[in-house]
Amino acid sequence: PRDLIAFRNSMQMLPPIKSVLEDFHSEELVKIENDIDALQDLCTLIEEAIVEEPPISIREGGMIKEGFDETIDQLRAAKTEGKTWLAELEEQERERTGIKNLKIKYNKVFGYYLEVTNSYKDMVPDDYVRKQTLTNAERYSMPRLKELEDMILNAEDKLTGLEYDKFCSVREQIAAQIERIQRTAKAIARLDVFASLALVAERNHYVRPVLNEKGVINIRDGRHPVVEQMTDHDMFISNDTYLDNQKHCIAIITGPNMAGKSTYMRQAALIVLMAQLGSFVPASSANIGLVDRIFTRVGASDDLASGQSTFMVEMNEVANILKNATSRSLIILDEVGRGTSTYDGMSIARAVVEYINEKIKAKTLFATHYHELIELEDLFDGIKNYSIAVKEKGNDVVFLRRIVPGGTDRSYGIH
Ligand code: ATP
Repeated sequence: PRDLIAFRNSMQMLPPIKSVLEDFHSEELVKIENDIDALQDLCTLIEEAIVEEPPISIREGGMIKEGFDETIDQLRAAKTEGKTWLAELEEQERERTGIKNLKIKYNKVFGYYLEVTNSYKDMVPDDYVRKQTLTNAERYSMPRLKELEDMILNAEDKLTGLEYDKFCSVREQIAAQIERIQRTAKAIARLDVFASLALVAERNHYVRPVLNEKGVINIRDGRHPVVEQMTDHDMFISNDTYLDNQKHCIAIITGPNMAGKSTYMRQAALIVLMAQLGSFVPASSANIGLVDRIFTRVGASDDLASGQSTFMVEMNEVANILKNATSRSLIILDEVGRGTSTYDGMSIARAVVEYINEKIKAKTLFATHYHELIELEDLFDGIKNYSIAVKEKGNDVVFLRRIVPGGTDRSYGIH
């Protein structure tokens, strides 16, 4: 019953949503508007049948609203009147017997009983039948009490049974409309995607990307949509990205630790992903070539339980990328070849770059601290060096966060 009330609350929002949508005329929004069924019949049914704050259990009654079913209303009256009858009987018996503290009580095992404390035991009349003896009191039954008990308990049993049946029938009536409900839910979900993307686009000054099928990725003043939110005082520095399948196929990115290499690569991947899903993007302009997949190899993880070390996991992931990437893919490789000896790592990194450039031609961003790799720019067409600029001032290093053409030969790790 609580779920039904929650469901009704949601359905109450449908008419206002529909009426807002009437002002829009784009094909997609018109379709959504048409697919949303206001479900007012179901809303009314729940409204009329279920109380505002129903109990959790469906077996104990108390969930069907007054006025929904005549028999339920009658049984409820019997239940409340039963309480009055008992109070009357209690009063009557006190007077008849003179036992001033005589009480009618109830428990699940014995049902209703009259309780008399030991000091009044002698005044108990003959028509009381003993049910139970306690240390300081006796419990009795009597014919009239038995009669009332049957009426009250029967009414209660019948009531909970009937409420349960009515509840099930309401539930079935709703379930019978499952197709309408699901079509509406799907339309609302689509609308939610559009509305949320529109909201972040508006709030964070995103632009509408242009999509191309030439495979060129040209981002101006790109930003990382999450890191920019975390950076105080609008201090996030935007950067351009240019990749294609010819001269700018692979970008080798060098620069100090903490300079922003990972952030830069991930922002490019996120912008491509956002553009493809139909979102505006964090940039001043973006022309995005459609990609078939985005492959990433970032961060370190292991899977010791199934026999894979950190290095092995990394190698498997790289192998998977090399096997499955195509010239239409975007690959993000963040420091491939760590976790083994320096020259082994460097050889692996270099072999991976050469293989992608020669055999796959996938657009690739490759961050590394192996500065030896910057010589690849001169050896191969399609590979370009970039670095993240820093300024040295005496003993201080200032991160400029700006990506510039050309490699660097320092990582400032110890610094
Ligand atoms: P390492 O080589 O040590 O792994 P890295 O070059 O990959 O470092 P990131 O991890 O990308 O560096 O960036 C480090 C931090 O710098 C980020 O957590 C972020 O707070 C900040 N940062 C990165 N890029 C920018 C930017 N463009 N503008 C402002 N702050 C940034």
